[in-house]
Amino acid sequence: MPYKDPIKRDEYNKEYRQSEIGKMNVKISQWKKLGLICEHDDEYEYVYDRWWRSEQCEEPKCNTKYSEGNKKCMDHCHDTGLFRNIICNSCNTKRRTKENSSGTTHIYKHGKYNTWVYRITINKRLYQKQSRDLEWLKKYKKEFEKKYLYNN
Ligand SMILES: [Zn+2]
Repeated sequence: MPYKDPIKRDEYNKEYRQSEIGKMNVKISQWKKLGLICEHDDEYEYVYDRWWRSEQCEEPKCNTKYSEGNKKCMDHCHDTGLFRNIICNSCNTKRRTKENSSGTTHIYKHGKYNTWVYRITINKRLYQKQSRDLEWLKKYKKEFEKKYLYNN
C-alpha cells in the first residue's frame, strides 16, 4: 500500500476500484467467491473479457440484449466450477432451477384411486398434480416444465 495516511489510502483504493484493472479484479474476486475455478490466472481475465464484451445472451434460444432489469451473468457449472458462458439473468435463474431439480419428473399411475400423478422436485420443494386424464396431465407437465425449467 503506497499510503500510510488512511484518508489517502481510502482515496487510493477508491480510485483503484474505479480503474479498469480494479473493476476487473473486483469482479474476478466476486466470481471466485461464487465458485468459479480456472486453471490459470489469465483464464479469469479471459472470462472477464468475454463478460465485458458480451452484448446479448449467449443462450441461443434467448439471444436477448442485456438491460437494467436483465443484466448479464457469468455462468459456471456448480459441480466443477468451470466457466460455461455469459447469459442473461433470466436464463441464469432458469439454469440454476434446473440444476437444483431432481430427476423425478415423471408421471405414474396411482392404482388405488385410478388417477395419474405427476411429481417434480424443484429446489427441494415437491410439486404434485393429479388427474384421471393422462393426456391433460402430460400437457400440464409440459407447460409446467416450460415455465419453471430451462428446456434445451
Ligand atoms: Zn437469456
